[in-house]
Amino acid sequence: MFDVLIVGGGMVGASLAVALKPLKLKVGLIEAYNFGVAEQPSYDDRSIALSYGSSRIYQGMGIWGKLRSGVESIQHIHVSDRGHFGAARMEATEENVPALGYVVESRVLGKLLYDELATGEIALLVPAKVYGVEQSADSVQVQIERNGVVDTLQTRLLVVSDGRDSSVREALGIDSIRSEYHQTALIANVTTSEPHRNTAYERFTANGPLALLPLTEGRYSLVWTHRDDEVANTLQLDDADFLRKLQLEFGYRQGAFTKVGQRAAYPLVLQKAVKEVAGRAVVIGNASHALHPVTGQGLNLGLRDVAQLADLLAETVLANSDPGAADLLARYQRLREPDHQSVVRYTDTLVRVFSNDFAPLAHARAAGLMAVDRIALLRHWNARQGMGVRQRQTRLARGLGLKQ
Ligand SMILES: Cc1cc2nc3c(=O)[nH]c(=O)nc-3n(C[C@H](O)[C@H](O)[C@H](O)COP(=O)(O)OP(=O)(O)OC[C@H]3O[C@@H](n4cnc5c(N)ncnc54)[C@H](O)[C@@H]3O)c2cc1C
Repeated sequence: MFDVLIVGGGMVGASLAVALKPLKLKVGLIEAYNFGVAEQPSYDDRSIALSYGSSRIYQGMGIWGKLRSGVESIQHIHVSDRGHFGAARMEATEENVPALGYVVESRVLGKLLYDELATGEIALLVPAKVYGVEQSADSVQVQIERNGVVDTLQTRLLVVSDGRDSSVREALGIDSIRSEYHQTALIANVTTSEPHRNTAYERFTANGPLALLPLTEGRYSLVWTHRDDEVANTLQLDDADFLRKLQLEFGYRQGAFTKVGQRAAYPLVLQKAVKEVAGRAVVIGNASHALHPVTGQGLNLGLRDVAQLADLLAETVLANSDPGAADLLARYQRLREPDHQSVVRYTDTLVRVFSNDFAPLAHARAAGLMAVDRIALLRHWNARQGMGVRQRQTRLARGLGLKQ
């Protein structure tokens, strides 16, 4: 019998498994794909903006020092609205932090997480697929298929981190609300003639937001939102035409765009589970909340799920109590709810207000951006939202190890 079984070894599930390593719990991680194979959906070509708060969580887990050399820091953020006046700027020095955030390639993060998991404390069931779950009063039975062999595992707590289209969430009978943006994110690494100087850009356009995130080796990671019916056009362009189109959309703030790498597309929706808990199971990460990538909040929100759950599980170890107990999971849901609601509202409002060329709204946006730029309190609120430090601070989020 496991104490904790985690389904889904993407960035969120694997981070939780690493966080739980020091605890005296029998923990297993079930992941459908070996790390590094092309089908693995979590560790692909995308880059992730980790908030300052997430860097603290990884520090609390004891792995930030190892990740630090593979990330680029964000010192300055510039937010603008294409074709309209007004821009807002945020600075790490003004917020008294070493960086507003850090950019890391998801494969680099994944490699570190899986290296950390290879030390033996966590039972790795990889590759293996969960295809059914059943619950009784004191355990969850999890049906898996591994190398063509079918098996049933038992656990006191099941953590569901199998991503946006979570089949396990469905099997548990947890409904989710889905809302279409009719937008697709096109991602690629690009190079500009001017050095990035650790500046991230978020530029709102009528088709959706366009972000440039400073990356190692002087590159930028581009997340360029398109209307669904437009994206095929841009994907098909040859490199020179692609760079010309990007230049028109972004302008010359970084000089000329000189190079583009491989491109990939991600259809965007907002999907939110109506609740996080069913019996002895809890959903976290994208299985609970899949967001638009505007301002890069999705993984950061998932890592705060990880930090909260790890804190509560550390308490159960100290109290020698049941890790799947109803009161513990109810507490988890109560503690995470305000953060979930606030980030869903924040990202959804940004996308809907800014992907709109209705003139009065455009004027209000310009006024809003100028206000954020000029009023220190507003700027500070926005910076802290982006840095992921406005929420209740768990031990890991304070950069501390779990209680043991
Ligand atoms: C273009 C883009 C840019 C983004 N940029 C940012 C950013 O800058 N900052 C940020 O914070 N977030 C960002 N995000 C969001 C971030 O990528 C996600 O929040 C994060 O990947 C979610 O991780 P997860 O582990 O919850 O889910 P996933 O990454 O979907 O992982 C789920 C895992 O579960 C496994 N799995 C599925 N079903 C089963 C099964 N039945 N049995 C076993 N295993 C199973 C899958 O193989 C997979 O490994 C971005 C997203 C996109 C699309």
